[in-house]
Amino acid sequence: MISGGAGFIGSHLCRALLDRDCQVVVLDNLLTSRRANLDGLEGRPGFEFSKHDVSLDVRVDGPVDLVLHLASPASPVDFPAFPIQIVKVGTLGTHNLLGLARAKGARFLLASTSEVYGDPLVHPQPESYWGNVNPIGPRGCYDEAKRCAEAFTMAYHRAHGLDTRIARIFNTYGPGMRHDDGRVVPNFITQALAGQPLTIYGSGSQTRSLCYVDDLVRGLLAVLDSDENLPFNVGNPEEITILELARTIITATGSRSEIVFGDRPEDDPERRRPDISRARELLGWEPRISLAAGLELTLPYFRNLAA
Ligand code: UDP
Repeated sequence: MISGGAGFIGSHLCRALLDRDCQVVVLDNLLTSRRANLDGLEGRPGFEFSKHDVSLDVRVDGPVDLVLHLASPASPVDFPAFPIQIVKVGTLGTHNLLGLARAKGARFLLASTSEVYGDPLVHPQPESYWGNVNPIGPRGCYDEAKRCAEAFTMAYHRAHGLDTRIARIFNTYGPGMRHDDGRVVPNFITQALAGQPLTIYGSGSQTRSLCYVDDLVRGLLAVLDSDENLPFNVGNPEEITILELARTIITATGSRSEIVFGDRPEDDPERRRPDISRARELLGWEPRISLAAGLELTLPYFRNLAA
């Protein structure tokens, strides 16, 4: 059972689970996800979709072995649009799905986020870092809901012995993102392909570390398959400034777009890079796909959307 299975990462994870011969039931209210992400999966044996908001309640008939909680709007442009839904799905939704996992005796995986580190004062970020989060800022709805989701997950593990996993997902990109997702990779690619200026927020000296979705999904499955209840960072440690990223995308697309500079959003983290030593050591997992290779795999999808 996978909440948010029609989302960008969720739909890739569904495909990987079907490839493992799992039966997959998606619960998704399609608030920021798209049924079209499931094209190609809907006809496959063992796949089922149900339009449902997991913040309300969750009832599933029959046995369930795995409960994977990926549902949540996750782009910074979603934060002002859906702040209450985001807090609810991270808190009430997590509680409902933990309850389902407990009732069914299922393993539970929480898709957490690098946002639990906020605007980090430690770089790169290991899982042992507690973070630097503004609870009342524009990102607080997402960051604090995910921090609460982690606390809920550990509480169920400690109080009920629930078999839980936590993956902290860092910036991820690839086919299946909305063209108007608002995050930096879809924005820059869409702008470059249209010959429009690439919009850098601030000077572009802020950094991110971008993981191609196939690597990320492999990482999530490795977390799921492990025996470790404490969180894992899952992301690519290849760090790049946003200005370098803009130039890389202009070159990769062969675009003549210029770069323009605008205001920096409030509480926009300055630097972000996962320390993935724990995943390397305990899971034998690390990303394999470079940014250059990942962009090559992503561009045809956005060219299609633009056509
Ligand atoms: N950003 C940008 N231009 C855009 C979109 C994003 O300069 O059109 C910057 C944003 O300010 C942030 C970084 O790119 O510093 C990554 O933003 P994104 O929305 O992808 O995700 P975040 O990592 O902030 O959650």
